[in-house]
Amino acid sequence: MSVAELQGVEPVPMRTRVRSAMRAAAPTACHVAVIGAGPYGLAIAAHLNAAGIETRVFGEAMGFWRKHMPRGMKLRSAWRASHIADHAAELTLDHFAETHGLEHVENFPIEHFIAYGEWFRRKAVPHLDARRIERIESATHGFKLVLADGESVHARRVVIAMGLANQEFRPAEFANVPSELASHSSAHVDFARFRGRRVAVIGRGQSACESAVLLAEAGAEVEIISRGEIIWIGPENLDIRRHDLRWRAREALASTGAVGPFPLDRLVDMPGIVRLLPSGLRDWISIRSLRPAGAISTRTEVSRSG
Ligand SMILES: Cc1cc2nc3c(=O)[nH]c(=O)nc-3n(C[C@H](O)[C@H](O)[C@H](O)COP(=O)(O)OP(=O)(O)OC[C@H]3O[C@@H](n4cnc5c(N)ncnc54)[C@H](O)[C@@H]3O)c2cc1C
Repeated sequence: MSVAELQGVEPVPMRTRVRSAMRAAAPTACHVAVIGAGPYGLAIAAHLNAAGIETRVFGEAMGFWRKHMPRGMKLRSAWRASHIADHAAELTLDHFAETHGLEHVENFPIEHFIAYGEWFRRKAVPHLDARRIERIESATHGFKLVLADGESVHARRVVIAMGLANQEFRPAEFANVPSELASHSSAHVDFARFRGRRVAVIGRGQSACESAVLLAEAGAEVEIISRGEIIWIGPENLDIRRHDLRWRAREALASTGAVGPFPLDRLVDMPGIVRLLPSGLRDWISIRSLRPAGAISTRTEVSRSG
């Protein structure tokens, strides 16, 4: 939901407006509640704060990145696609890197990206409530949000930005295998306990490739098992990125979102148009753009670890 939509939806009657203003004084009411303080939650909260809309934000800043992604990981998304949006486009990754003396590198280290998210939060979303929302109920003029400690908050609008947590897929074949033997990649922040063990990594996306590399670095013997060849994305090396004309032209023309191969990424950047396409074509675009793939920068390490 865009800020324009949030501002534009149904005119609020005067009496309700007065009541909203009264609620504004109470800490248990707000116009918009944002659930989630990852990159998307922080971005929407920053826009809402800038627009002067009374907003409360819940969740742990960059919590998913700190608790469910492995230390040592590098971002797969391109630099240009990794900025967190604020309304003035000031709190960019460029600005963060510049003020913190960090080099502009593709495959930005996760530790720096988490620090970027926290820096963004301090600047644009200073009043964050780290508590968990247990339940949302519909209520008069909006919603009642019940927090983990039992407190409740009333919000006229709710933006859900809870990310990928709890979406992990565990194939039925592993249903009865104890989690010490078969775990999902999101359960590991560090792979030290696998030192000296033989580990099979199942999958061929970035998580699988990155986990294989980090497992090998932690001293495990690793094998990747997948249904097909790994698809590698990105230029072979930095020299190609810098000097190859075809690659440079592609980079110049590519979308900022960088989801999907060029030129499909341009279309993916226009969801308003994509949603008008026949569903078969939309499915094809989704599969083509979101298929599992590994950043080419991990390829050498994967072959070394395999
Ligand atoms: C291994 C891995 C690597 C990835 N690499 C990249 C990458 O390089 N580039 C990229 O763009 N994307 C990457 N992604 C995808 C990434 O997860 C999303 O782009 C990004 O984190 C989505 O941001 P988000 O704000 O939607 O959610 P998240 O970052 O997942 O944040 C979710 C937020 O919701 C909060 N929350 C959840 N439930 C509740 C609740 N009940 N009450 C209150 N708060 C709650 C959490 O505390 C957290 O603050 C990767 C994902 C994985 C798994």
